[in-house]
Amino acid sequence: MERKTILILGGGIGGQAAANALALHFGGRHRVVLVDRQRKFAFAPSFLWLIVGKRNPRDIQRPLAALLRKGVELVQADILMIDPAKKEVKTSAGPMSFDYLIVSLGADLAPEKVPGFEETALNLYTLEGSSRIRESLETFSGRKVAVLIVSSPFKCPAAPYEAAFLIQDFLKTRGKPAEVSVFTPEPFPMPTAGQKVGEALKGLLESKGIRFYPNHKVTRIEPDGKNLVFENGKSEACDLLIGVPAHQAPKAVRDSGLANEAGWIPVDPGTLAAKHEGIYAIGDAAAVPIAGGKALPKAGIFAHIQAEVVAANILADIEGRASGARFDGGGWCAIEMGNGAAAFGSGDFYAEGGPAMTLHKPTRSWHWGKALFEKWWLSPFGPRREALRLALNLGAKAKGVSVSLRRL
Ligand SMILES: Cc1cc2nc3c(=O)[nH]c(=O)nc-3n(C[C@H](O)[C@H](O)[C@H](O)COP(=O)(O)OP(=O)(O)OC[C@H]3O[C@@H](n4cnc5c(N)ncnc54)[C@H](O)[C@@H]3O)c2cc1C
Repeated sequence: MERKTILILGGGIGGQAAANALALHFGGRHRVVLVDRQRKFAFAPSFLWLIVGKRNPRDIQRPLAALLRKGVELVQADILMIDPAKKEVKTSAGPMSFDYLIVSLGADLAPEKVPGFEETALNLYTLEGSSRIRESLETFSGRKVAVLIVSSPFKCPAAPYEAAFLIQDFLKTRGKPAEVSVFTPEPFPMPTAGQKVGEALKGLLESKGIRFYPNHKVTRIEPDGKNLVFENGKSEACDLLIGVPAHQAPKAVRDSGLANEAGWIPVDPGTLAAKHEGIYAIGDAAAVPIAGGKALPKAGIFAHIQAEVVAANILADIEGRASGARFDGGGWCAIEMGNGAAAFGSGDFYAEGGPAMTLHKPTRSWHWGKALFEKWWLSPFGPRREALRLALNLGAKAKGVSVSLRRL
């Protein structure tokens, strides 16, 4: 059989999961090449624990090479241009051709889109920004903390709310209770998970005394970072500003000829195939349509499951057999609430009338489940899906909860 090259762009959550799944099956018979500009991988869900001193940067980073299975060729380079017609990718390490391409380049952050953000806000979505939040919270002596969501879409729709819960809890236990507020252009929290979940999360924010400001789209931040100015004509003062910057598709994705007007790559919701044969987009870089003209939220859990589906379909294609592997829209996340507890959202994002999600009440078990998930992801053996499936099935069964794990 002719030796094929599967080129994977991006070594984040989706890219690693795809590379490991393919290398496991191929055992060296075909080339699995992964390109990323970073040497080290940082597990973003752990930034939430980093900001309140429950993790150190070194706890949540690993050399990318250590997380890839034997048989994956790792190239450290900048991806400059994707040419789908020529089946070639230009990188800072030279051109690379492929038989199959998996684009998993994630979403770029664009803090410059709101005047004043770069200069004044602490960026929750980077390792460096999260470390600075931690330092600022240690010495915080003010009264008002603002968590600001600049625009949608942004990855992990729960993360800013988790930050608000954890910060409120952190300052309270330090004897420095603060007024924590979330400002967002969204009408209610996590609209991509449906109104029911949004209202439930809003209730949880209120129960903890966290103020919620929906329909607040920021237009600028005053130079000292102490005043937020919104499109609705209002302005709000704060002593500490924690922000989720605007997101945009990476330039190589926008310029690839694969992208839609917004810059993301439209794909088949089941197979993640892009419009050119042999090319797939997964995770944050993909635009996956769901009911009501909406798009699937950007989250690592989807990147991971989609990677497994794409790997299974490429494998079957190479071996000349049919594959029934399809991403079914199932997803879940544990939402940190502080005080060692987490809520748990799970359900079906492909349901006909829109996402059919349930938010389970906060418990310590969901928190520990999330911590175990982190350990599993960062372990030198991970991420092995067999172990995760077993652990989650056991956990869910113990709680009497049904979790869609069919694709894990
Ligand atoms: C604070 C925070 C908390 C989160 N919590 C959760 C959670 O609890 N659950 C959950 O499901 N999701 C969570 N997420 C979201 C999750 O991290 C992302 O959705 C996920 O990482 C997307 O995977 P991906 O493979 O699409 O992209 P990424 O993991 O972002 O990987 C993209 C990779 O591409 C590389 N890259 C990009 N452009 C180039 C280029 N031009 N050249 C070379 N390399 C390039 C990058 O270096 C990166 O390694 C969280 C995110 C944040 C920021």
